[in-house]
Amino acid sequence: MATARLQGQVAIVTGASRGIGRAAARALADEGATVIVNYASSAEAADQVVAEIGAAGAEAMALQADVGQADQVEALFTAVMEKYGRVDLLVNNAGIARDTLLLRMKLEDWQAVIDLNLTGVFLCTRAASKIMLKQRSGRVINITSVVGEMGNAGQANYSASKAGVIGFTKSVAKELASRGITVNAVAPGFITTDMTADLKLGDEILKLIPLGRYGQPEEVAGVIRFLAADAAAAYITGQVINIDGGMVMA
Ligand code: NAP
Repeated sequence: MATARLQGQVAIVTGASRGIGRAAARALADEGATVIVNYASSAEAADQVVAEIGAAGAEAMALQADVGQADQVEALFTAVMEKYGRVDLLVNNAGIARDTLLLRMKLEDWQAVIDLNLTGVFLCTRAASKIMLKQRSGRVINITSVVGEMGNAGQANYSASKAGVIGFTKSVAKELASRGITVNAVAPGFITTDMTADLKLGDEILKLIPLGRYGQPEEVAGVIRFLAADAAAAYITGQVINIDGGMVMA
């Protein structure tokens, strides 16, 4: 454990069984947080993350919940409160893509992505904020995407969900600021995970990235760690922090 700036704090990371969520869970545990490793169906992978965190000397618990479903989000937060009695950090990371061009996009492709990527963020943030308002502290970190800022052909559903997360982040940051709760978004570019494994990450995409390479989940986790644990981040709210190799320069 490096610095343990999050000792005594409880963090929920949605979609923490793989990819960016897994790296974020490990980074927060490395700071001493007790981490709830949420997942949808990869029980074994989630247990593995819990075991890795345990081996590194911190506490973690795997909890299954489809965070796009209101009743499951309620059950998730009830279980966390029964066991730990507080929630200090929420990383809204769970997300899916169902890529296809607009004319071929079925309503179910649209709905599934909006339900998890946007409604899931709303449901979890609402549940966490009830707890954080009473605590008069908390930090919420929403994982959006560069495509929520710049759009991407074949990702109308995904881009809309991620743009929605940005508007949501700014509005909720304004609502919760007076109680010492910060709400920020992290916008990754192309990160090497299962989600991007199916994409043809070829030279055409590399040309869009000034730094000339894809990012790693641990790099995104580093930004999440900063927003969660750094003293300076107490004065950052309503922001979108890009970690994209320079793809978007506002
Ligand atoms: P990933 O490797 O596909 O992992 C997705 C995670 O979300 C898994 O842990 C998965 O759990 C979980 N999940 C899926 N559906 C869920 C549900 N209904 N309820 C709860 N958890 C669910 O994805 P990733 O690349 O790490 O992406 C993580 C986040 O970063 C997403 O919001 C994504 O949109 C965003 N992002 C990714 C990139 C990129 O290049 N990779 C870029 C920009 C933004 P199971 O293992 O149980 O399925």
